[in-house]
Amino acid sequence: MTDLERLREIISGAKNIVFFGGAGVSTASGIPDFRGDEGLYEKENKYDASPEEILSGRYLLRNPAGFYRYYKNEMIYKSAKPNEAHLALAKLEREGRLSAVITQNIDGLHQAAGSVNVIELHGSVLRNYCTRCGAAYGLDFILDSDDVPICTECKSVVRPNVILYGEGLETQPFCKAELAISGADVLIVGGTSLTVYPAASLVRRFRGEHFIIINKTETPYDAYADLIIREPIADVLRFAVT
Ligand code: ZN
Repeated sequence: MTDLERLREIISGAKNIVFFGGAGVSTASGIPDFRGDEGLYEKENKYDASPEEILSGRYLLRNPAGFYRYYKNEMIYKSAKPNEAHLALAKLEREGRLSAVITQNIDGLHQAAGSVNVIELHGSVLRNYCTRCGAAYGLDFILDSDDVPICTECKSVVRPNVILYGEGLETQPFCKAELAISGADVLIVGGTSLTVYPAASLVRRFRGEHFIIINKTETPYDAYADLIIREPIADVLRFAVT
């Protein structure tokens, strides 16, 4: 039996799968891996600071125009569509075999594919709010603004509901993620190297039967996995979810 066949067998016998995913899940949708070889880090010479500096809460306060120039050009992929990984996970949820998708991505593609219980650890580009009065705005409001999106109610800067560098995670999604993982019988980690906080502390909560890693490169948790597949995740899930 090949590893892919083994994965298909585990998935077909599972009752409570939790999927934990990262940037690699969206690369097949044309959204670059932030830390990958062809990711944003390669482009940093186009701007006056590194992506990590620009995409920080401090930079947004100091230079909102610079922040939004970068953000609109490099972080928003409005025409991106869900790929076969997103669609397969949505199908598993509909069939009652998957209880949650936990994602480090901010692109909203799991919901676009039909997933319902999506735990977004780093927020979403689709949700934005006024930094003073809290009024809510969609993505179009951000993209339609000339320079810096300004609240129509109180004229303050509107910001994305996304965890920026230097900002802590929100407690609620993190706790939901812990709870989901601790109750799962199968944990599939995909498209993440498990090096970004808080991936590690979440994975340690798993007490179920099968821990599966689908990632092109090694992760610090490979030794704990029952199955490691080093293929593109969209190809793997297309095969394994039938
Ligand atoms: Zn406001």
